[in-house]
Amino acid sequence: MKFDLFVLPFTLGLLFLLGYLTVTYGRWFKQMNTTDRSKIITGFFSFRLFGALCEITSESLLHRRIFMKNRLLGFMHMSLAFGWFLLIVIGNMESRVFQPAGMNPPYVPIFFRFFHSTPGVFPLHSVFSFVMDLLLLFVLAGVMLALAKRIYSRAYGMKRTTKLMPGDRFALTSLWLIFPLRLLAESFTSEAIGGGDFLTASTGQLLGHFLPAGLLFYPAWWAYSVALGVFFAALPFSRYMHIPTEVVLIFSRHFGLSETGVRTSFTEVEINSCSRCGICLDACQLSFAAGIHTVQSAYQLKAIRYNHIKSNESLNCLMCGRCETACPVGIDIPKIRLIARNEMNGKTPDPSFSQQLMPGTRKADVIYFAGCMTHQTPSIKKAMKKILAEAGVNYWFMDEDGGLCCGRPMMLAGHPEQASVMVRKNRKLILESGATTLVTSCPICFKIFAKEYDLKIRVMHHSQYLLELEEKHKIQLKPLHASAVYHDPCELSRDIRVYEEPRKLLSGMVSLVQPEFEKENSLCCGNSLANFTAGDAVRRKVSEDAYAKINPYGAQYMVTSCPLCKKAFEKVSDVPVRDIAEMVSRSMITGDIKEIVYKQKKATAVRSLVID
Ligand code: SF4
Ligand code: SF4
Repeated sequence: MKFDLFVLPFTLGLLFLLGYLTVTYGRWFKQMNTTDRSKIITGFFSFRLFGALCEITSESLLHRRIFMKNRLLGFMHMSLAFGWFLLIVIGNMESRVFQPAGMNPPYVPIFFRFFHSTPGVFPLHSVFSFVMDLLLLFVLAGVMLALAKRIYSRAYGMKRTTKLMPGDRFALTSLWLIFPLRLLAESFTSEAIGGGDFLTASTGQLLGHFLPAGLLFYPAWWAYSVALGVFFAALPFSRYMHIPTEVVLIFSRHFGLSETGVRTSFTEVEINSCSRCGICLDACQLSFAAGIHTVQSAYQLKAIRYNHIKSNESLNCLMCGRCETACPVGIDIPKIRLIARNEMNGKTPDPSFSQQLMPGTRKADVIYFAGCMTHQTPSIKKAMKKILAEAGVNYWFMDEDGGLCCGRPMMLAGHPEQASVMVRKNRKLILESGATTLVTSCPICFKIFAKEYDLKIRVMHHSQYLLELEEKHKIQLKPLHASAVYHDPCELSRDIRVYEEPRKLLSGMVSLVQPEFEKENSLCCGNSLANFTAGDAVRRKVSEDAYAKINPYGAQYMVTSCPLCKKAFEKVSDVPVRDIAEMVSRSMITGDIKEIVYKQKKATAVRSLVID
């Protein structure tokens, strides 16, 4: 068995890392509830395993998502991860070909050129030498790009990068040294003893002109081994813990695990999967519009991981979800922030409003729930009442004369127990009414009714319901001969993805102008209920910046589907801001004319059918 003392730093570092990961992942597995544990076990014997392996290849090795967003950044990550992976795999194949039988400890493929530097002694020697040199060059290109990114991140289109912690600096320095030291070790060996290919042999020749390769090759192998050992030992205490943990995350997600609202082993896996790549920093409006640079998700996840959460930072977030959409690892960031908020608040007693008198229920086909914010924007409520009456809907205006909030603001504040009291009380009333459809005007209410109430009836935002009324000819709309830009409210986009219905509805009324920041990439209006620390000045900066980006072409109207967005943009906009219900109400044909227009439309449709 080949051995030299210099392999010890590498071997000890590797053993420490494997031991640490075994204990940590074993602990997380043990702490899982039995359902999650059985999902993991059965997942390994199901077809989901193949899905997980495909994602590991495309995301952990090739970094496809980063590549799609930023080619240079994607190439940097890919060359480091995939290049290193191939160096290990092909290095192992090379050492197996050379020594098909007998002991082949893990350090032999890593230090192969030290132990087997004589050229031409095994089949395909020159092919392996060429490929290994090529791969080393590939990884070195990644190291150079990573170094350049640290010095000047703007060249990569990144305005901000995350700050390094001491553990990160230690691990990062050793990581960057690994491959240049490998190049030196193999090049000196090539010059002193032989072997190598286009990269290592020519570098060895070059260095040999002014350095004593015969004296330096052995210390270079020591240095290479020390860099590897230090990196492995530092990895668990640095951001590089994300390298093995992201693989665990991908398996867990494919096997059906997700965030539940309380801290679980899955939460630990998510938190440790953050590479602090910094991609979420530039997505955050609090950063680019309001100049707040300490509260973003990369920092929040770091604070949760190292237990130094500051409540003012945790509460200073719009919960807009832009960072989650940008995150290449797909971490469920808003849910984790909510868990942190819940933990900060501790267990709160049952709320006093649990004794509050609730309105009685009423039998109806449809329930209309305006929500607190809509009550503060009465024009939306008025428009909805007019439309529902015109369409002849048998509806119950559930919160017309009071009642409880939907509960989501309490959830966002980190008071899940209090929110659940509201959910229970509202749910009872809704189910007792016998309604088959619940319509809300506020996207915040819509999200919680759709996701947390388990109502088993249709839950619709009014933009969806109004389109349905229009398609069923319960209401008819006429063109308003104006241009408009539509703003997607956060709570209605990204997570819930209500994109097409409002646009379809508006296309019959106005000429729609398409902004750059829409749908997945839409901006927060700044009025978010989820931010508990931002003052008026910060909110105004966010609103002003968002308005300028959403309506740069000066459309005559700004239309949205959220009372909060309407209020926020009204303060900064130079054109009228309307809710989609208000637009429908203005465009709606009423009374006798409605009947005439309907008959005309029907006749036109029949004529075109006959002609076809
Ligand atoms: S949360 Fe996602 S985008 Fe942000 S630093 Fe972590 S991995 Fe990168
Ligand atoms: S949810 Fe929005 S405001 Fe909060 S950190 Fe993410 S991008 Fe910034």
